[in-house]
Amino acid sequence: MHAGQACVKLPTRQWSRLAGHAIKMPRAQRTIADPMTQLSPPSSVALGPAFAHVGNWIFDLDNTLYPSHSQLWPQVDARITLFLQEMFGIDGLSARALQKYYYQRYGTTLKGLMDEHAIDAHAFLDFAHEIDLSLLDPNPRLGKAIEALPGRKLILTNGSRRHAENVAGKLGIIGHFEEIFDIVAADFVPKPEARTYDRFLEKHGVDPKASAMFEDLAKNLVVPSALGMKTVLVLPHDHDPFREADEQAAVQAPYIDFSTTDLASFLEAIIQARATE
Ligand SMILES: [Mg+2]
Repeated sequence: MHAGQACVKLPTRQWSRLAGHAIKMPRAQRTIADPMTQLSPPSSVALGPAFAHVGNWIFDLDNTLYPSHSQLWPQVDARITLFLQEMFGIDGLSARALQKYYYQRYGTTLKGLMDEHAIDAHAFLDFAHEIDLSLLDPNPRLGKAIEALPGRKLILTNGSRRHAENVAGKLGIIGHFEEIFDIVAADFVPKPEARTYDRFLEKHGVDPKASAMFEDLAKNLVVPSALGMKTVLVLPHDHDPFREADEQAAVQAPYIDFSTTDLASFLEAIIQARATE
């Protein structure tokens, strides 16, 4: 199938290697990932050549390094709604609508509040990330896989450093990361804005052509792919009712090289493929 043609449902085989590279205005095709589909590990034959040149492993944080059933993002989402309620003295439904408006228009609610109301970004971030991490289990398997990846590992998040430290700390994986590039380091310009990736790459001396990016939001992979990174879309294993449907859909697009609903297995397959080269 040629990219950009009419919608076709993704095949049930979800470890998909999608041919082609970034084009200027890629058109994505979306289907809801089938939560009942059990995935088998991807072929190490396919992964070996694809990741052989990669020495920089870049990870988004929220809903990428932890599964959506940890109930972290719904809490952050609800804290942001509460922030708006208190800031404007409005009810929850109105605050929710305003939150969606800012998110759609500015990429993050925070950016909308900064641009339109000049709020204190740090106060917002502290408030939004005051959440209960008790449902988040340590993930030693993921930690072991990240540790075994050859090269540098970095987190690139639209959240705060403190949130990333708390979450990655609870997962037991933080020690494997060289650095966290957060929304403050991005001067509050969120992904998917191109200048945020540029700033990240420059600050940490990362060559995008020797990098791979793991993300749960397809739109955040458009620029990385155009820069020459290998891109992996991390999908939820089960449908998450707290998130936008189109943000957890399986996406078939030229800027997505691979998709997975199991990050640890995917990384293990890469490691295995590289070990047998
Ligand atoms: Mg995310």
